[in-house]
Amino acid sequence: MDCLFCKIAQETVPASIIYKDDEFVVFKDINPKAPIHILIIPRKHIVSINHLEAEDESLIGKMFLTAKKIAKKLEIDEKGYKLVFNVGRGGGQIIDHLHLHLLAGWKNSTERNVPGMP
Ligand code: 5GP
Ligand code: ZN
Repeated sequence: MDCLFCKIAQETVPASIIYKDDEFVVFKDINPKAPIHILIIPRKHIVSINHLEAEDESLIGKMFLTAKKIAKKLEIDEKGYKLVFNVGRGGGQIIDHLHLHLLAGWKNSTERNVPGMP
């Protein structure tokens, strides 16, 4: 399958990977929209939230727990962060492989308004 994020998960396309396990790969966004901009992806190719099936219930739960773990690892858990799923072109999704954006690291609240992100 010709999917950029599948290739990153398989490590055939390079990325700054900061964490990986059997189910997820976590890496730095190539075009960060915040001082800290991380993407959490499942190894399983799922196009978007719209394409989740009942069998993915545990995967999506673990995806949030992975985000929590990464936030702690990066020491941003206390200060706070945003978690965003863009869904479909109207929602700003460009890459058709499910990914959770983790955004953080702003100095103040005005800086925190990320263009294209809620
Ligand atoms: P979307 O707009 O689909 O929700 O988010 C896709 C994200 O993937 C964007 O923030 C974009 O900067 C990032 N991205 C696109 N291509 C690459 C790449 O080759 N490597 C990495 N690390 N990030 C990418
Ligand atoms: Zn994929």
